[in-house]
Amino acid sequence: MKILIATPEAVPFAKTGGLADVTGALLGEYNRRKEEACLIMPLYKGVREKFRLKNTGLKIKVPVSNNNVTGRIFSSGPQADKAAAYFLECNEFFDRDELYGTPLGDYPDNASRFVFFSRGILEACKALEFKPDVIHCNDWQAGLLPMYLKTLYRRDRFFSGTASVITIHNLGYQGLFPPSAMPLTGFDPVWFNPEGIEFYGKISFLKAGLIFADFITTVSNNYAREILGREHGFGLDGVLRKRASALAGIVNGIDYNEWNPQSDSLIQKKYSIKNIEGKIKCKLQLLKDCSMKPDIKRPVAGMVGRLSGQKGVDLVLEALEEIISTGSNIIILGKGDEIFHKKLSDAAEKYKGRVYVKIGFEESLAHKIYAGADMFLMPSGYEPCGLGQLIAMRYGTIPVARKTGGLADTVMDYEPLTGNGTGFLFSDYTPSALSGCLKRALCVYVDEIRWQKLILNAMKTDFSWGNSAKKYIGLYNRVIEVKRQ
Ligand code: ADP
Repeated sequence: MKILIATPEAVPFAKTGGLADVTGALLGEYNRRKEEACLIMPLYKGVREKFRLKNTGLKIKVPVSNNNVTGRIFSSGPQADKAAAYFLECNEFFDRDELYGTPLGDYPDNASRFVFFSRGILEACKALEFKPDVIHCNDWQAGLLPMYLKTLYRRDRFFSGTASVITIHNLGYQGLFPPSAMPLTGFDPVWFNPEGIEFYGKISFLKAGLIFADFITTVSNNYAREILGREHGFGLDGVLRKRASALAGIVNGIDYNEWNPQSDSLIQKKYSIKNIEGKIKCKLQLLKDCSMKPDIKRPVAGMVGRLSGQKGVDLVLEALEEIISTGSNIIILGKGDEIFHKKLSDAAEKYKGRVYVKIGFEESLAHKIYAGADMFLMPSGYEPCGLGQLIAMRYGTIPVARKTGGLADTVMDYEPLTGNGTGFLFSDYTPSALSGCLKRALCVYVDEIRWQKLILNAMKTDFSWGNSAKKYIGLYNRVIEVKRQ
C-alpha cells in the first residue's frame, strides 16, 4: 500500500506540538512494517538549517489565486531505517523563523501558504510519480487537499485510485480566513456557503477536509465522542454529526525509542522499571538547573506544553498560591500566548526558589522535567489526546490531569483501596478542583511504598505506536476498498 502522510510538521524536522510527534512516529512505524510510506511537509527555514536535504531537482507550479507559484521538492534522502520525507520549498512562504506565526499572532498570509501546501502536495505526487493509495492529511493546514481531490482533481486519472483520510489533532484550530481568501483556493465560489466550506462568514480549511475526506479520525475515542457535541464541537459538531459514520478515534502513542528513561541521553541518570533509583538523581539535577534547593522530599510538579488557554494555564496561575502552600514546587516549560509568558514570568519572580518558569521550546529541558518531576500537570480545558501525560507515565512521573478527551482515556484515576491507577484526575474546570486533585496526589506521595507502586503502575502502561499504527493501516485498507468498489 502506498501511503502519503501530509502534515505541516513532523519530528525530527519541525515541531510545535504533539502533531509532529504523531506524524514522525507513524512514518517510522509504517517503515518498520515495510509499508511504502512517505511524508510531505513544508521546507521551513529551521529544517533547511538543521538538516542536510537533497534537492530532487523536481519543480512544481501551484496556482495560488492568479499566480503560478513555483516550488521545489527536497528529500531527506533514503536513510537506512527511515522512509523518505519530502519537503516543499517555497521561500516566499516558508523561509521564516516560525511555522505559523509569532506570539503576537498568525502570519497574515497563512491562507496562501497552506493553499500552496495542500495543492502543492498533489502536484508533487505527480512530479515524483508517486501515486498514493491513500493520503493521510493532518489538521487544517492540509485540510483543503481532500477537497482538491474531489473537485479540481476529480477527473485527474493520476489520482483515480487515491483515497483521503483526515485526522483532527485539535478541533480548536480550523484555519479560518476571510471570504477574500476564496479566490486563492481556485475553488468555484459556489462552495462558499454553509453547506460547503463557509463557516459563519469565513472560509474554514478544516471544514473542507471534514466534508470531503473519505474518512475522518481523531486522536482518542473520548474526543471522537466529545466533538459531536456542542461543548467541544467548536461549531463544527453539526458537520461532524452528519459524518459520524465516517469518524473514529485512534488513540495516539509515543515513540518509545525517543522517550525512554533507560536510554535517554538528555537526562542526568538513566533508569528503568527494574531500578528507578536514577529518577532521584534526575530530580536533584532538575532542582539544581531550576535554582531550587536540593530538597529531595519536597514534591515537584512539572508542566511542559503550549501556553495557550486550552492547556489550563489560567487554572495553574489561579491555583498557584494554594499549590505552593501544599509544599510543592512547580517547574513550567512552555511557549505560547504573550499574556501567559508575562503572567508566568511574574509568578516565577514572585515565588523565586519555589516556582521556575522557562519560556521557550527546549527539547532537552522537557526531557529533564519528564524524568525529574514527581507529578505532571495537565489541567487542560480540552485535550484531544495529549502526549505529555503519556511521556510522563513512561518516566514514572504521575499525571495530575483534568478528566477530558484523551486524558480520560489514557490516565486511570488512582484508587486508594486497591492501589490501582496511573494518575489523578479531576473534572471541574476550577482552580480549587486542580489544587484539590494535587492534594489527593500528595496524600499518596507522602507514603513512599504506595507512591513507588504508583510509579511502577504508570511505567507499565503501554502507549507505544504498535497498536495504533495497526488500526490506521486497517482503516486505510477499508477506505481504499470502498474507493475501489
Ligand atoms: P499539543 O496540544 O501541543 O499537541 P500534546 O500534549 O499532544 O500537546 O503534545 C505536546 C508535545 O510537545 C509533547 O511532546 C511535549 O513534550 C512537547 N512540547 C510542548 N511544549 C514544549 C516546549 N515548550 N518545549 C519542549 N517540548 C514541548
